[in-house]
Amino acid sequence: MVSAAIDRSMVEQIVRQVALEYLHRNQNGKSSVLTVQTSSRHMHVCREDMDVLFGPGSELTFDRPLFQEGNFAAKETVTIVGPRNRLISNLRILGPMRKQSQVELAFTDAIMLGIHDIPIRLSGDIAGTPGAILIGPKGVVELKQGVIRAAIHVHMNPAEAAHFNVSPGDRMKLRIGGPSGLTFNNVHVRIDPASRLNVHMDTDEANACGLHLTKEIELFK
Ligand SMILES: [Zn+2]
Repeated sequence: MVSAAIDRSMVEQIVRQVALEYLHRNQNGKSSVLTVQTSSRHMHVCREDMDVLFGPGSELTFDRPLFQEGNFAAKETVTIVGPRNRLISNLRILGPMRKQSQVELAFTDAIMLGIHDIPIRLSGDIAGTPGAILIGPKGVVELKQGVIRAAIHVHMNPAEAAHFNVSPGDRMKLRIGGPSGLTFNNVHVRIDPASRLNVHMDTDEANACGLHLTKEIELFK
């Protein structure tokens, strides 16, 4: 029925409005506003690969902080070479170092490199993914696996998760308004006490939905 549908959507709208107010009120003065950020292609590096690429014992140099506390863009970059000898230079490294190296590309980047079967994965889940050659100022690493398209995801702390009534691994919807707006139906939920409420999407996704054209953003289950 038309009237039932309208009622339901109105209720959902009110619920979301309340959700936002709740988030504003419940952070001891700190408001928790949903932000959506675009991740450009980048990589995370492990200690062993860092030694090869930048020299034994080398450290990442802090360039600028990222939204999630403790994470930063490093000054260091590498060149990545794909299976058909096509390359992308200036692939930024994000710190801190991790247990395993991982390259996160948008689909357009992967096609440019000749990696047409790049899988969509959550960060850290790299078993069976394609590899690539990485070239640093001091050496070359043949990455056996770890090239992924990062699945669109939302970071939140346990209080925010309780409020949205979601658990780790759940999927949420993200509606982007504006002239090129669209709704993402598989936004993976990542929960960590240190996290700040924040959606990460790649450059293809941001361009497709015209993220820069609107402030109209809605996250819901
Ligand atoms: Zn993220």
